Amino acid sequence: MLRKIIIANRGEIALRILRACRELGIKTVALHSEADRDLKHVLLADEAVCIGPASPADSYLNVPAIMSAAQVTDAEGIHPGYGFLSENADFAECVEKSGYVFIGPKPETIRIMGDKLSALAAMKKAGIPCVPGSEGPLDVEKPKEIYRCAEAIGYPVIIKASGGGGGRGMRVVRTEAALLNAVSLTKSEAKSAFNDDKVYMEKYLENPRHIEFQVLADQYGHVIHLGERDCSMQRRHQKVIEESPAPGINSELRERMGQLCVEACREINYRGAGTFEFLYEDGEFYFIEMNTRVQVEHPVTEMVTGVDIVRQQLLVASGVPLAIQQQDVEFTGHAIECRINAEDPKTFMPSPGPIEVFQPPGGPGIRLDSHIYTSYQVPPYYDSMIGKLIAHGETREIAIARMRNALEEIIIEGIKTNIPLHTELLNDANFQHGGTNIHYLEKKLAQSSS
Ligand code: ADP
Repeated sequence: MLRKIIIANRGEIALRILRACRELGIKTVALHSEADRDLKHVLLADEAVCIGPASPADSYLNVPAIMSAAQVTDAEGIHPGYGFLSENADFAECVEKSGYVFIGPKPETIRIMGDKLSALAAMKKAGIPCVPGSEGPLDVEKPKEIYRCAEAIGYPVIIKASGGGGGRGMRVVRTEAALLNAVSLTKSEAKSAFNDDKVYMEKYLENPRHIEFQVLADQYGHVIHLGERDCSMQRRHQKVIEESPAPGINSELRERMGQLCVEACREINYRGAGTFEFLYEDGEFYFIEMNTRVQVEHPVTEMVTGVDIVRQQLLVASGVPLAIQQQDVEFTGHAIECRINAEDPKTFMPSPGPIEVFQPPGGPGIRLDSHIYTSYQVPPYYDSMIGKLIAHGETREIAIARMRNALEEIIIEGIKTNIPLHTELLNDANFQHGGTNIHYLEKKLAQSSS
């Protein structure tokens, strides 16, 4: 077992990793910025090292500072969490070349799956269904080819940055007249945002749901899947509510898609926890990307399968063979997660500041993954998510009822949060019915503001 690891992240996921380490007897080193001295996991960790000023570029993305901290604390491994350096293949390579364990897949796997075009090529080869699209990157020097491609796919199409992430670097095109301009604009945005100007084209699906599969693989080729999550409730391509299982996905379909993902993992020699993201429309799945890290929404899968995904990441990284067989994975009940953000529920403007009062909710099936406490100051420099509220129940209806209670019970004063939005969504008849698509929330918000 790894003896001591670096937690190279902040907020709720850093605390989540710390908790899993403690259960396994792994010592922890919390790396933090100058603005994050009071983070809960920093206070609880065995050791803490300040790696730089508040700005992420100077701290959580500061590779030399992170590597020095690993050296001075004599750590064995580095857990990158999600975001920041978690999907940076160069960082993973630097970690491994320096003799530390990167708690994630091999650097070369991250490199292939991090580039959407090479990921699509690898998935097509593995027999995973993909959205119809251009074969490779679009060449602006060959406009005729671009027009021909769009015509063959059929409008509307979506232009996507190969290096894109976080819901950025995408542009929908509905007419031929708008096509070339959209390609050039996405290309130049992609160049400045991701330092990679490769863009490609896909069929734009009008009413899909976002359904993703969780996988776990050890270092010896044993791979399992833990079923799916429905993350269709999105704003600006960012997930707001996630749940498992996905409404309307039967066990036969789950098994078929899960097995396809398992086989794809074997094909790419996958290691650790990962997620295959799909769009699901009219009964068909289309792969869009793979995330080679733990995801924000992993708790809903943990609640329905009873498998601790972060613990499994640590075991796999320690070289322990995966002890769970596919036939042992049972799906029990239904789980829903609401991402709690420090933001105005109407304008979505970030709302950093002091938490004056905090009272967590409770009761059967309620889980809160959050680093906040009374008197904690939410800093303005980072993502606005301050926690995740998860409700589990025997049925989806019970999970919804428990979530509604929990949203009513939780008290966060001093800052604004999106809890009122969650309450509204949990009371929404269409959400309650299940299976709303990825555009539902945006449309609902547009209607309520007009
Ligand atoms: P990112 O890496 O930025 O998260 P993804 O490729 O995962 O980008 O896409 C994020 C979201 O964008 C999807 O969940 C979906 O809402 C939307 N999207 C992406 N591709 C398409 C498509 N071909 N048709 C319709 N919506 C899409």
